Amino acid sequence: PARPLIAENVPKGLQRVSNIVAVSSCKGGVGKSTCAVNLAYSLVGMGARVGIFDADIYGPSLPTMVSPEIRVLQMDAETKAIIPTEYMGVKLVSFGFAGQGSAIMRGPMVSGVITQLLTTSDWGELDYLIIDMPPGTGDIQLTLCQVVPLTAAVIVTTPQKLAFIDVAKGIRMFSKLNVPCIALVENMCYFDGDGKRYYPFGKGSGPEVVQQFGIPHLYELPIRPELSAAGDTGSPEVVVDPQGEVAEIFSNIGVSV
Ligand code: ADP
Repeated sequence: PARPLIAENVPKGLQRVSNIVAVSSCKGGVGKSTCAVNLAYSLVGMGARVGIFDADIYGPSLPTMVSPEIRVLQMDAETKAIIPTEYMGVKLVSFGFAGQGSAIMRGPMVSGVITQLLTTSDWGELDYLIIDMPPGTGDIQLTLCQVVPLTAAVIVTTPQKLAFIDVAKGIRMFSKLNVPCIALVENMCYFDGDGKRYYPFGKGSGPEVVQQFGIPHLYELPIRPELSAAGDTGSPEVVVDPQGEVAEIFSNIGVSV
């Protein structure tokens, strides 16, 4: 079936974006934002033009993970479009850069604000726009997925939080919109020490999940203390996924930079 809401309805500021990728998770705290930011900076390292949209209105984490000079979004006086701020070559839009405090809003309002922020931003010419989705699969997530034509979705989880039923829900949401889930990332899986590999939370059920749902890629990412430290101080350049494991995903979806 044809994808709903594609092509003719693409908001102006997104029309020159080649690929829009949702990074999603069922639960908070699994490293979704970390993966989204890593993915973006890894792609920049590969020569791509990249943007990140932080769609988490209640707890926007982009402002703590990157430290752009301009921390408040500007508006083009003529077109009224939002001009993304920029850090190390990545265009950034987050509610945390909107110049307001934390949001006390109900679902429908939140959807409206997020969609507005995403669709009225002028992203210019990009190879990838990475959307750091709010955790879960509620109305806010669904609305967001419907207003932009997503190329693909990446689902992030951790071994201890990988609940089959939640992942299934996430995949179902994307498949309803004909968006392929191209990868499952099992974050904080293991660490290496004394020549051995340790799985502190046990081996995750990633392999069964990808098999059951036909997800073409599974990535196990290690626990990296330096990654956490860098993410908290606004220097994503240190965070960049050194082996490019996550960015590798994209060489496999027929998308060329
Ligand atoms: P989410 O977006 O899912 O809520 P975050 O990306 O904010 O999660 O990550 C939660 C915390 O875990 C952050 O402090 C982050 O730095 C840390 N973290 C994420 N991935 C890793 C990892 N692979 N190794 C170590 N710390 C990590």
